[in-house]
Order: sequence, then C-alpha cells, then structure tokens
Amino acid sequence: MLVETFLRKQLGLKAHTVTKVEETDRFMIVHIERLGRRLLRCGVCRQRCRKVHSIRKPREWRDLSMRKLPLKLRYRPRRVLCPRCGLRVEDFPWADPWARVTTALSNAVARLARELSWQGTARQYGLNWKSVATIVKRAVAYGLAHRVRPPVHVIGIDEVSRRKGQVYLTVVYDLERRVLLWVGDDRTEEAVKPFFTREMGARRCHTLRVICMDMWAAYANLVKEHAPQAQILFDRFHIVKHLNDAVEEVRRSEMRRLSQKEKVPFKRSRWLLLKNPWNLSDDQKERLSTLVQWNMPIVRAYYLKEAFQLFWFYRQPKRASDHLEKWMRSAMRSRLEPFKKFVRMLRGHLEGILSWTKSRVSNGAVEGMNNKIKSISHRSFGFRTAENFIAAIYHCCARLPLPVER
Ligand SMILES: [Zn+2]
Repeated sequence: MLVETFLRKQLGLKAHTVTKVEETDRFMIVHIERLGRRLLRCGVCRQRCRKVHSIRKPREWRDLSMRKLPLKLRYRPRRVLCPRCGLRVEDFPWADPWARVTTALSNAVARLARELSWQGTARQYGLNWKSVATIVKRAVAYGLAHRVRPPVHVIGIDEVSRRKGQVYLTVVYDLERRVLLWVGDDRTEEAVKPFFTREMGARRCHTLRVICMDMWAAYANLVKEHAPQAQILFDRFHIVKHLNDAVEEVRRSEMRRLSQKEKVPFKRSRWLLLKNPWNLSDDQKERLSTLVQWNMPIVRAYYLKEAFQLFWFYRQPKRASDHLEKWMRSAMRSRLEPFKKFVRMLRGHLEGILSWTKSRVSNGAVEGMNNKIKSISHRSFGFRTAENFIAAIYHCCARLPLPVER
C-alpha cells in the first residue's frame, strides 16, 4: 500500500485525499487536496454545500508522529456557500474549526496530560506549554458540555489549597459515583453559590439527599436555601481531624511546661498518640504506656480521643446520641481547654453530626481524589492562575469525555 493511501485511510478522508507526502528534516508534510467534485460540508453546521466560493491560502495542522517525524497536514481550505449559514470555511474532518492541531493529536496530548504535568506533556510531544494548556482547556470545555449528568443524591463539599494554603478552591464530589462535579474559585459562601444556582439549578438540586461537609464550612446556609430537603452531614474525616488537633494542642502545651529532662520520653510522641492503638508495634505500645503513667493531661486527652471514636460504630441513633452526650460531658470536665473548644463546636452542629448513623457516608470516599489534586498542584509547582488549576482538576478528576475522532 502506498503511504498516501495509508494516510488517507487513517485520517478517514472521504471528500479529500492525500496527494503527496514530503519529507523534510523536521516533519513529514502530508499534502491534502479536495477529491474530485465531492461535496464539502459547512464548518459551522456540517450541512453539505453545493457551491464552493473560493480557495484560501494553505493552512497546516500538527498531527501525531509517524516513527520519529511528526506529521503535518497541509491543505488549502475552501470557503463554501452554506444554505443555512452563508459563506463559511468548510468543515475539516481531521480537526476542530480553529484548532492548529488535529483532533487525534489533541486527544493524545489531553490523555497524557491526565498523567503528566503540562510541561512534561509538552516535552513529550515537542509542543510548547501554552499549546498544551490550550488543548487541555478546550478538552475540558468540550467534556463539560458533553458529560453525562445523571441525578445526584449524595455530595461531598471540600476545599483544596493552591500555593501552600494561600488560596483556596472548593471542590464538590458526587460521593456515589466518586466523581468530581464542580470546582469553585475560593471557599466563601459567595464562591460556592454558583454550584447550586448554575451547575445544579433548582431541578437537579431537588434530588440531593445528603450533603457532606466540614463543620467550619461557610455554606450551610446555601444548603438550607437551595436544597432544604437535603440532610447536612458533618464529615467524619474532618471531625476526627479537629479531634486530633485537640490532642496535639494538649501535647504541645504540656511539652512547653515540662523541663528538658522530663521531655525525653515524649520526643516524637505525636504519632504514638494519634495512631490507632491496634496499629502500634510492641515497642511503641511500651512507650505509650510509660507516657500514660507519666503525664495526666496527655493521658486524659488520649483516652478522650479513643472514647470518642466509638461513636462511629453505633447503628441506632438513640445510642449514638447518648454516647455523644456522655462523651461531651466528660470532655467538659476534663480541664483540657482544646477539648472544651471541640465540644462547643460539636454542640453547635449536633444534628449534622448525628446524621452519620443514618447516612454513613464521608468525604473519605474521595480522599484519593483530594490527594490527586494535591499531586496535580505539586507536579506543576502550583499553578499560577486559578483558571489553569481548575481546568487541570476537571481534566483529571471529572471523568470528562474527549472529543470524538472522526
Ligand atoms: Zn452551515
């Protein structure tokens, strides 16, 4: 088979053909011509057009590589007279109207950009960073317009930081399908509102049953306003994090109080206290028991933390709530200020915490995705603009479809 025939078949050309393949030291240039008098299509509505108005100057599209040399398609586009749209540039079966690369190449680039940084992807394909950014953003725009949108029942709202905790984004996941639904710039109520009003809209908000979030989140009011039927559930992982913060605060203040010599057994004790006891080695268990004998506030903090965790195992709402009440009373008597603070936080959010026994979902289901977002941010040394970072998050986490290759 001639290489021209091979390329024509590969490109799926019907109204066009490959006339010549020319080799330069950097590219293989594939010359494309119109095939006889076959009808061309309108670039806007894809309607077949009878009349060709004029021939424009040659244009080039980067394509995938063949062995070592990248292909370049060269063609003089026709302007056609479309019965619906008037005078338009014809439709190219190998590329989108304004693209300077073929759909096959842009999809290959987009797929690799899900695994590598944009910089790394650019290097792999001999493109510059900007071209990759353009390709990814176009792919995301296409994907958002064409993704499947089944009804959503259980969502998790979380935040991720950009540039070492300087700037925050809000991410919303479908916890049933474990897929990213939406990303918002910032974490304020104002910033999250478009999720309910624009992304979901009144009709889709209607099916929401459970909304999982942090107790500190600013969007509880939004839920009451836009999805009043949904149950707010304060996220288990966030609650445990606040609890662990309380333990850590007690440990630190004790460390400040102790003399140098007394401090020795407490060195590197942080993980000893935060780890689940059944995960400790024998050696660590021994150190923990010494610690426990030595210092009362730390011991109290440790046991309080362990006792709280039983809450997650109750199945009956009444028992769970009794346990929580009892725990909160003992924490208030503990004379540990960080725990009192934690209890006050719980008191203000009790209903959303007790929802756990009924729903038993948490943002832990999508922790992998949060980690993925962190790694996206790291591998690109923190995106400089929110726009690019948001595009990269959608691209990697929202399972968006890529443009169809014709
Ligand atoms: Zn048209």
